[in-house]
Amino acid sequence: MKSFRILSAILIFLLMGIGILSNFLQKFETKSHTRDVINRGLHIVSLLSLYPMKDFKDSNGDYFLRTLTEYSFYKELAYFFVHDATGAVLLSMAPDEIASKIPGQVSQTSLFAAGLINQAFKTRSPENTIYEFAKPLYSLGKRSGVIRMGLKLSPVSIFSSERLSLMAVLAFFIVGTAIICYFAITGALKNLKSSKPDFSDFSEANDLSSGNIPRKGNVASVISHLDESLVQYKAKLDKLSAENVELSSRLGVFAFEKNRIITLLDALDFGVILTDLQNHVTHVNKFMLTLLGKTRKHVIDHDLYEIIEHAEIRSYISRHEGFGHSANIQPFETTLPDHAPAKIFKVILSYLTADGNSLSDKVLSFIDVTSVKSAEDAKQSFIAHVSHELLTPLTNIKSYSEMLMDGEVENMEMQKEFYNTINDETNRLARLVQNLLNLTKMEMGNLVIDKSLVKTDWLLGDCIKSVEAAAHDKKITINSKIPDNFPTLIADKELLKGAIINLLGNAVKYSPENATITFAISEQDQVVSFDITDTGHGISEKDLPHIFEKFYRADDDKVRTQMGSGLGLAITAEIVQLHNGEITVQSELGKGTHFSIRIPKEEYYLAKE
Ligand code: ADP
Repeated sequence: MKSFRILSAILIFLLMGIGILSNFLQKFETKSHTRDVINRGLHIVSLLSLYPMKDFKDSNGDYFLRTLTEYSFYKELAYFFVHDATGAVLLSMAPDEIASKIPGQVSQTSLFAAGLINQAFKTRSPENTIYEFAKPLYSLGKRSGVIRMGLKLSPVSIFSSERLSLMAVLAFFIVGTAIICYFAITGALKNLKSSKPDFSDFSEANDLSSGNIPRKGNVASVISHLDESLVQYKAKLDKLSAENVELSSRLGVFAFEKNRIITLLDALDFGVILTDLQNHVTHVNKFMLTLLGKTRKHVIDHDLYEIIEHAEIRSYISRHEGFGHSANIQPFETTLPDHAPAKIFKVILSYLTADGNSLSDKVLSFIDVTSVKSAEDAKQSFIAHVSHELLTPLTNIKSYSEMLMDGEVENMEMQKEFYNTINDETNRLARLVQNLLNLTKMEMGNLVIDKSLVKTDWLLGDCIKSVEAAAHDKKITINSKIPDNFPTLIADKELLKGAIINLLGNAVKYSPENATITFAISEQDQVVSFDITDTGHGISEKDLPHIFEKFYRADDDKVRTQMGSGLGLAITAEIVQLHNGEITVQSELGKGTHFSIRIPKEEYYLAKE
């Protein structure tokens, strides 16, 4: 019943459609027919007007009839008139009733037309539209008459046989298509209705799994079934979007962690390049970028060998390609002359593992070991120096004492000189050992001062005594200047003595023979100053900022030929600092040097009291 109603509705729509289409086609046909009649009318009249007037008179219209039949116009012909110059009818081919139906206005217009004209008028019975075409005739340059022809345009029937057959064919196809579509849709809906979707994923919303599918074969039940399915799909969609939210929050956490790792890598004070196992660079830290002088985009995703141009490092990497275990790979030290020529780098290749077993990434680290290296070098040269410094006085002491013990020196003066030399060398040894001890304490941070009242006159005497012999050897004069009141201060006498002896010893060491050294003690504004001035080799501007550094010695023959460890001034500065004092130096190469130690005394006095 329902199908019948649907079919009826389709048929009604179809008929309405055919009616509208037929009407449209009728109008279209009428228009094209009219245009055709006008074109042909104008053409025929133009042709006929070429005949001389006498032809119409003589042949009684035979020429005209021949021309008309040639153009198959006869059935549409309503009338034909040939008028002479006065308007009298010379030739007439028309039923009487038509002639009387021509409006006078139309006839008049045609009779006096100067050229080809076309007019239309309607007749009642039979109902026709007549198109009149007229053209004047000329002979010997004079208007000799007019030809007028009327063609009737009968109305186009809405039910023309051609159109009806076209409509029938169209209707057949439309009805056929509609029926096929109808059955196809109902068939599809039936299939949908009979199918049981698998909603086992949705235990919480699984109404259909119970087999509760509508059995009724109507569209409403199918729609309600679809509705339920939509609910199920919505539940699935909600679940998916919840999963999506969780995934994107996890992704956020990963991105955060990744950024933290990048920040951490960038904070490292050594270079790191991370690659996959195919040597494609995946990460590089700031230190490494600065070292290579490249930007991240010029490194990331590029081949490791493309970035590292250093042949030694390349061969190191390729030698350990596929080692598969970082423990087997030994680091090596190298320089990067193109990037940091003054530095030494320890290069280490290591592997990362993804799950404790399979290798995932390679890490190439560049650690700047320049300072470690120079410290090691300094230590080694220190040991060499110290050994030399210890050995020289010891050798002297040994040889002089042996000579004395063997009774080789009989001369009393000579014996005294030998004993003095032994004493000097012992002092030098003691000073060196004391400096070494102080250095060790300084290094360990436990160089403490043992303060007591120090009388500067004693200090002066002790200090000069310990460098006297060396000065004497070089015929150097030491002038001492000390105020009459002999300032006193609270200090660690041994340390302070050591500091002053270092300065006095250097003045002697780095002055030529016959030079003069001045050692002055003064007191001003509760500060006791010790000033040692020499006229020796002096210190260059280049060396001056470094002389208080441990192990530093000027790279100068006049210095290198003298024994020394480069420790004296470093220890002296430390001792002065422990006394809250300050040490300054002025020097000019070739002219001499002036060291000044200033120790504040007031606070110590107060502290002691
Ligand atoms: P050293 O054992 O070499 O004398 P110091 O620490 O006492 O070590 O001195 C460090 C460096 O300072 C010396 O090697 C020398 O180059 C320079 N120097 C120190 N005192 C003088 C000085 N009076 N005249 C010239 N150079 C000096």
